[in-house]
Order: sequence, then C-alpha cells, then structure tokens
Amino acid sequence: MPLLEVKNLSKSFRFRDSLGRTTGQLAAVNNISFSLNRGETLGLVGESGCGKSTTGKLILQLLQADAGQVFFSGDELTHLSATQMRPYRRQMQMIFQDPFSSLNPRMTIGTILAEPLRIHRLAPPRQIRDRVIELLEKVGLTADHEQRYPHEFSGGQRQRVGIARAVAVEPQLIIADEPVSALDLSVQAQILNLMQDFKQEHNLSYLFIAHDLAVIEHVSDRIAVMYLGKIVELTSATELYNNPRHPYTEALLNAVPTPDPDLPRPTALSGEVPSPVNPPSGCYFHPRCPYADELCQQQEPSLEDIGSGHQVACHYSEKVGHYLQHRK
Ligand code: SF4
Repeated sequence: MPLLEVKNLSKSFRFRDSLGRTTGQLAAVNNISFSLNRGETLGLVGESGCGKSTTGKLILQLLQADAGQVFFSGDELTHLSATQMRPYRRQMQMIFQDPFSSLNPRMTIGTILAEPLRIHRLAPPRQIRDRVIELLEKVGLTADHEQRYPHEFSGGQRQRVGIARAVAVEPQLIIADEPVSALDLSVQAQILNLMQDFKQEHNLSYLFIAHDLAVIEHVSDRIAVMYLGKIVELTSATELYNNPRHPYTEALLNAVPTPDPDLPRPTALSGEVPSPVNPPSGCYFHPRCPYADELCQQQEPSLEDIGSGHQVACHYSEKVGHYLQHRK
C-alpha cells in the first residue's frame, strides 16, 4: 500500500465582485492522481502558478478539495474534521520556501523546536532541552544557537531550523515546498544533502515541490510534471531525463544548465503561461508547443501509461520521443 495516494483531486478558486457575485473561476488543481511510496521522493515540478503548492496544501488538508480523495496509509483524509486530522498532522510535516516567515520572530530557536515536542508529548519535560540540542546538532547547528532568534540566522541556517522542526515530530511524510529556491547554489546543495541524509536515516518520504528540474534531478525517485493544474508527465527520474515524452518536459529540461557551455542548446520554453482563468482549448500546452496541430487545439489528451508506469498526456508522445532520441 502506498504511503500517500491522491485520486482525482481538484480545487478551484472563485473570484467575486464587491457584491459577492462570482465573476470568474480558476482551476488551480484539475483532476490529478498519483501515489507516493514509503521511503520515496516524488518531485512535483512546473512553472509558478501551475498548482504545485495548492496540491501540497490539499494533501495536508490545509485547503478543502472540491473533488477527489487523499489517502494516507490507506486512511481517507478528505472528509476528516480538524480533531480527526490531529493524529495525521504529526505524520505529515511541511518545509517552506521561506522558513523566516514560518518561524515566530519572538521565539528563540530552542523554544521553536521544543514546542512540537511538548505538544505531541515526544519527550518528558526534563529531556526536551537535550532533544532540542540533539536536533540542532543533527542539522549542522550547535547548542550555542539554542538561545538565538530567527533574525540572527542566515537563510541556509533558517532552513536547517525548518528541517529540524519538521523532523522533530518523527513524521513519515514531508512536503517540501521550494525548500532551496531562496538559497545560494552552494547552500542549496548542503540543504539537499541534509534532506537526503534524513530520508535514509528515517525512511522518510518526500513530496518535493520545485519550479526547476535542475533542483530535483538528484533527489527524486520519480517526477510528476504539472502544467496549468494538470499532471502532463509522470515517470521515474531516470526515464524523465533520458526519455522525456511531453514537449513541456522537454522545454523544462532545456532550461536546465548544461555543464559544458559550448554544447548546442535546444530552444527553451517560449511564450507566457496562459491564464488558468481562461485556459486554451484542447491541450492546454498547444499555444506554446512546437508540435501542435489542429487535433491538439480541439481535443484534450488524457494521461496514458505508455509502458512501465511512464504516464504522458500528449497526442504525439511517440513522435516527440523519436524526435528527441534522434536529436541527441
Ligand atoms: Fe503539444 Fe499536441 Fe502534445 Fe499538447 S497534445 S503537448 S499541443 S503535441
């Protein structure tokens, strides 16, 4: 049984005028399904506004879905009350892009880390301080940091505190929403390594949300690519990098810097993301797709398994695959 299963999940946001009348609707997440196994990292990638963060909030039940189901260890969460959700909250933690805004500026780091241990009664009161120091050391900080406040830390150190706070309650799943995108490249690598260490040590599962394939390349077991609220490709990380079948994935891969600047660069993604309030007809990607034809403008492709669990939503996934293989 997968640790997490998401089935046909949808969420729209309505716009209202000053009289409260609905003036528009934005389908942020549109009928998406995927699963996440224990000890696995699933990367969820796409441009900003594609519904990745909304998906994370729907899984954590911080937002209520319009339709679909979320299962955690086989238990359906979607219709649970706040009280019924409480035991699951400890099992599912979140790491944010900007840990500063999620750390109370008036609390010391020691108090911030002690709080979840107290709330969930994970250590006797007399042992909480030892546990806090142990957590600080595990994330590469020291006991000296315990009495300091969030503003005294660098971005990388604050993200270390964010990770310590998430792992303090011994969760099974961590949803990491752009956890390194605000950090310098060298610090990014340190934080990703730290997350990998925790994954191995505690058999953690991650849903790793990012806008950039370069960031999740080395940490994901499988990757789901989202475009305008839908999953357009989902497969193992190795398959996605070696045999992409959706033109949008191809475009994201083209945006990944190559180690050799003299290598010829394929065309990167052009054009603006269409408005999710008024999405294009047929395939949502057709206004930006170099392979689009009339069929693409008229008919929406469904997400199909093309073999070995590789799922793609494109009328011409085979042709795209052949073209990309020949271009290598
Ligand atoms: Fe491009 Fe057509 Fe495939 Fe959509 S269905 S990605 S427009 S080729």
